[in-house]
Amino acid sequence: MGARIGRLRYNPVTITVVISAVFRCFRLREISSAGNARLLKNRNKVNFTQFNLDSRLLAGIKKAGYETATPIQEAAIPAALRGRDIIGTAQTGTGKTAAFVLPILNKLLEGPRNAARALIVTPTRELADQIHDVIRVLATGTRLRSATIYGGVGAAPQIQALRNGVEILVACPGRLLDLIAQGHAKMNRIEILVLDEGDRMFDMGFLPDVRRIIAAVPAQRQTMLFSATFPLEVEQLAAQSLKHPQRIAMGLSRPAYTVSHALYPVPPHLKSPLLIELLKRIDANSVLVFTRTRRRAEKLQQQIRRAGYKATSLHSDRTQGQRQAALRGFKEGIHDIMVATDIAARGLDVENISHVINYDMPDTADAYIHRIGRTGRAQKTGDAFTFVTSEDEDLIRKLERIMGQPLKRETLEGFDYAVPAPPRPAPGPRGRRGAPRSDSRRERPAPTPKSYGKNRLAPRRRK
Ligand code: AMP
Repeated sequence: MGARIGRLRYNPVTITVVISAVFRCFRLREISSAGNARLLKNRNKVNFTQFNLDSRLLAGIKKAGYETATPIQEAAIPAALRGRDIIGTAQTGTGKTAAFVLPILNKLLEGPRNAARALIVTPTRELADQIHDVIRVLATGTRLRSATIYGGVGAAPQIQALRNGVEILVACPGRLLDLIAQGHAKMNRIEILVLDEGDRMFDMGFLPDVRRIIAAVPAQRQTMLFSATFPLEVEQLAAQSLKHPQRIAMGLSRPAYTVSHALYPVPPHLKSPLLIELLKRIDANSVLVFTRTRRRAEKLQQQIRRAGYKATSLHSDRTQGQRQAALRGFKEGIHDIMVATDIAARGLDVENISHVINYDMPDTADAYIHRIGRTGRAQKTGDAFTFVTSEDEDLIRKLERIMGQPLKRETLEGFDYAVPAPPRPAPGPRGRRGAPRSDSRRERPAPTPKSYGKNRLAPRRRK
């Protein structure tokens, strides 16, 4: 079995791995290419009327404020309208939600109502809410309805929504499987399945659940899979669940040319004072700060509040209600600063975030790109500051290679970097009470080493 290349024979798995590594390499080249960015900016813009969408959708598009299609919409909408399966390499922030929502709405306008006919599976509750909101706007005037299905909140309203009859479900895997098992969610009428953020679902350990969901929906369907990167497991999922898919690669992300990056070398014990000092010097009214663990996020949020700022936090130790309130408060400007774990790195669409500050260096290059993608959106500019310690040097070198340029090192003038570290408290008789917990630990099993592709930085030892 396998293909012969020159004098060597390769098995299919090797070929898939190599193709996916080359594919990733090109994607990252695109991200760092200012020339491509210019090309993208100067491309001929496509108007939504050119897609032959049902005229009833134009009111929603107008309400959303979209005038011309983004590149992913330009490529995906015509293919999806033709009924093709799609593999989209696209991050959130590229307009991919409307790229799959508009073809779904177009299809559902014809045919029966009151039955779930489209299913969008997404890894986090925040993303589910966000997609649901986009559907609500774009479906203006169509009387098509969507409902969110996810855990962490009571199931009763979701069951009621299913009983009332909705055409589109936006779901996280666990709760959806529960409601399928209890007979509340019926999958037999699903015509379109969207798997969103495939790599994130893999990272969070959701792929077995996703496979169960795929087994529950009719084989005769249209499937769209979106993912920012394609680890082998996601490629395999695609190969097993999509039919002759059209590949659409939109690796080009806005952050590359609208975000300026800076590294702030700092000893670990001075990170908080440096952050507070930095906040004083920037116009800190929409700042997203990332920490590696939930405990650090909570503690830092309190320190920032004590320094007089309106701050909140988003991590998985908080209840779903608290998470929603934090995000809403941040979006509405009630909180100027949100301290978050990587739960907020993907997908969250908050307008006008001026600064992303990596209080802790992320684990992977992908995570860095996702985090900084929260700023510089919609052609606006943004700053990404990353606090680095001597431990991070390897990661920085890899990141600079991937970004294709050195990242500038900054020092904050007048800040006293020479303050010595306080003496460490002696450990109690039973040592520390538990290790710091990262969101990723509770929310997903540790990825297997093979999931770290070439463009990823190796998993770091947790401190
Ligand atoms: P998404 O990648 O779907 O999360 O979209 C990112 C942001 O781009 C959201 O704020 C969308 O409302 C916005 N957006 C999506 N499509 C368009 C478009 N064609 N024109 C302008 N903004 C858009």
